Amino acid sequence: MKYIDLRSDTVTLPTQEMRDSICHASVGDDVYGEDPTINRLEEMAADIFGKEAAMFVTSGTQGNQICVMSHTRPGDEIILEKKCHIITYEVGGIARLAGVQGRLLRGKKGIMDPSDIEAAIREDDIHQPKTSLICLENTHNRAGGTVIPIDVLKGTYEVAKKHNIPIHMDGARIFNAASYLKVSVKEIASYADSVMFCLSKGLCAPVGSIVVGSKDFILKARKFRKMLGGGMRQAGFLAAAGIVALEKMTSRLSEDHNNARILAEGLNNIPGVNIDMETVQTNIILCDISGLKMSANEFSAKLYEKGIRVNGGSTATVRFVTHYWITKEDINTVLEAVKAIAIK
Ligand SMILES: *Cc1c(COP(=O)(O)O)cnc(C)c1O
Repeated sequence: MKYIDLRSDTVTLPTQEMRDSICHASVGDDVYGEDPTINRLEEMAADIFGKEAAMFVTSGTQGNQICVMSHTRPGDEIILEKKCHIITYEVGGIARLAGVQGRLLRGKKGIMDPSDIEAAIREDDIHQPKTSLICLENTHNRAGGTVIPIDVLKGTYEVAKKHNIPIHMDGARIFNAASYLKVSVKEIASYADSVMFCLSKGLCAPVGSIVVGSKDFILKARKFRKMLGGGMRQAGFLAAAGIVALEKMTSRLSEDHNNARILAEGLNNIPGVNIDMETVQTNIILCDISGLKMSANEFSAKLYEKGIRVNGGSTATVRFVTHYWITKEDINTVLEAVKAIAIK
């Protein structure tokens, strides 16, 4: 049975063009720097993001962790938003791998205020840890795919420069942010010292993420990647799909955003279902179903019977994520299915 799979944009299978490019990729040993397809992908990424250098990594998590390790020293403190991916879903990696502690700030719909960031920067005091990094998440996953406005990025960057602290952007879905803001990723990346982005989410590549930054930063990061077991050999087979992702998949994300909006508006009109429409900016919808008197797990089980997959959980929040393989017709099917569940 074919499911309409709205659990995540990580479920996206590679396109036929990606499969063909994987088959025909020229490859070499990337630990020796000899994989031409990896080299091409990294040059492309650096160029698109307006940074000196780029490095392919196995996953977004590995990319984020390498960046934290490269920017900090053990015992430092880093500033992050309370519900960010690095804190929630990376297995405590910043504590174990980088040996740093997190200073967590509550964002408004995932977005931290630059003045709150400035207030959280430690003083030069013998008792206090050194604040050595600010991490931003754009778009913010757990806040519902919300985008950091450019003026907030600018404000944060000014604070960071004033205090001589680098910014790392977890840009797993940065192309969704760029699409929403109608700006280039280069412009967004200009307010960060390092950026990690995922090829394997809405861009449909099967595996891999990329870290971009200065030449010196990437040189340092390469050593940590090796340490974490991310030195891959003929990785050009993965990079080949990544090149298609960057060439063909970034400019179509507004289709996913349109589908998400149609789905969210439809869902919001169903009695018992509530969505904060302000957070529906990109391809993620967080849906409060407490009015339906069932848990997200029960709700997702009912949808599953109807051939639709969503992420449940023990709370009353259900997440829907649109992506390349979700069509307009699928959106109608989902709305009809939710209506049927809500009316019973
Ligand atoms: C998915 C995601 C990551 C991690 O990517 P993986 O490839 O799953 O390790 C990091 N940050 C954010 C915001 C994400 O959504």
